[in-house]
Amino acid sequence: MSWKRGVGGRRHTVQRTETGVERTEVVIVGSGFGGLAAAKRLGRVGIRCVLISRTPEHLFQPLLYQVATGILEPREIAAPIADVLRHYPSIDVRLGDVVGVDPDESVITYTDTTGAHQLAYRSLIVAVGAEQSYFGRDEFAERTFALKTLDDALRLRAQLARVFAAADTTDDEQVRRRLRSFVVVGAGPTGVELAGQLEELARRHFDRPIEVTLIEAAGLVLPPFGGRLSSYAKLRLAHRGVDVQLNTTVTDIDDRGVTVRDQKGREHLIEAETVVWSAGVQAGALARTLADATGCATDRAGRLLVNQDLTVGGYANIYLIGDAAALHGYPGQSPVAMQAGRHVADVIRRVLDPGTRFVYHDKGSMAMVERFAAVADLGRPFRLTGMIAWLLWLGVHLFYLVGFRNRVVAVASWAVAFIGDGRPGLEHLIAAAHRGETPVAGVKAAAPT
Ligand SMILES: Cc1cc2nc3c(=O)[nH]c(=O)nc-3n(C[C@H](O)[C@H](O)[C@H](O)COP(=O)(O)OP(=O)(O)OC[C@H]3O[C@@H](n4cnc5c(N)ncnc54)[C@H](O)[C@@H]3O)c2cc1C
Repeated sequence: MSWKRGVGGRRHTVQRTETGVERTEVVIVGSGFGGLAAAKRLGRVGIRCVLISRTPEHLFQPLLYQVATGILEPREIAAPIADVLRHYPSIDVRLGDVVGVDPDESVITYTDTTGAHQLAYRSLIVAVGAEQSYFGRDEFAERTFALKTLDDALRLRAQLARVFAAADTTDDEQVRRRLRSFVVVGAGPTGVELAGQLEELARRHFDRPIEVTLIEAAGLVLPPFGGRLSSYAKLRLAHRGVDVQLNTTVTDIDDRGVTVRDQKGREHLIEAETVVWSAGVQAGALARTLADATGCATDRAGRLLVNQDLTVGGYANIYLIGDAAALHGYPGQSPVAMQAGRHVADVIRRVLDPGTRFVYHDKGSMAMVERFAAVADLGRPFRLTGMIAWLLWLGVHLFYLVGFRNRVVAVASWAVAFIGDGRPGLEHLIAAAHRGETPVAGVKAAAPT
């Protein structure tokens, strides 16, 4: 057998077995934070890999809300994965959906526009992230906006253009109020950042009053931060007029808005045209398939209870990293996925011994509340709020944005939005909405009556 040119044009990444199945050394599934970190580490030493992802780009999910609110353009947070890995000739990037794993034969099955294919591996790294969880109420997906993919962000952006434009043209005060009412479910970093930006968008860009309600089942916003940082974020949002409802759970969502139950068991309806769900995650289809195939146990969110070295079940050559894995309660955050990606790459290239335990080194977390105000937890005593935390937020996000050009453009976009009051991503949509055109096909909410 000889090494052959891969489908993506890379040399020496695959060979064919006698049965005609392609074979490579490492298959990586997913081009998110975990998959990309592993690929770079392996590519640096020329290990043959095939990276398969259902999306052609590496998506910087933490900034999706800024695409939705018109601050950034999709290309600024989504770098084409083939470009990112162009300096690593041993990596073959393929667009495809991995649908099956045969752990005993060490073969995966993936589909693309040309059909189904099999690929044999020596090591497999699964880094497929997580999906939105509606806690058993999947019908909520049809009635809410999500923030998980670029399409989600663009759908929400189109909705914002539609409701702001429609509110300006109606004479009915009740309809206008409803159009300018927003509910965000979940006060984690995404919910807090989005609620802050919605308010800022209305006040600074549109100069219109809006109502934003932030619903959280826990007793504080930004639960993982806790203490002074959570209180600061809540006070800051409340000061801006965001109605923060804690210890409150969603019981129903319909055309009128969101019905919630408070701590005392009282239910009430919050009317809103736009509801954004950012309340939880669960493992996706491939993680479930992998759990079934390997007999690996899962937690309540369907995440696989991986071994301490990130291997799955009894298979020493299958690794699961990132949001689909559960280990030691590590948070579903990008640094965990990246460190895990580098860890398994180091085991595969024998810098670490097989079986080496993965230990996450927490360098801190941060969330922006509004322009010039953020919270940053870098470990005691460095728990920062306000402008200094915001500058830190800015620096860290710039550092992790992929691509020099994206960094430069992002700085320019932030200057336009935060020093000025421009929202370039929304302006043409608003103009289109005023002309009566639907900004983007597939916008969920119906036109107001
Ligand atoms: C809105 C939002 C805001 C966030 N904010 C923060 C933050 O501020 N700080 C922070 O640290 N973390 C944040 N996170 C979490 C962070 O983005 C995740 O922890 C991180 O992306 C997990 O990396 P991953 O590699 O596990 O998965 P992902 O980055 O989600 O990547 C998964 C990849 O797998 C691919 N894929 C999935 N299924 C298949 C399949 N069957 N076949 C082929 N490819 C497949 C996808 O296309 C994608 O490329 C945020 C997440 C979201 C959604």
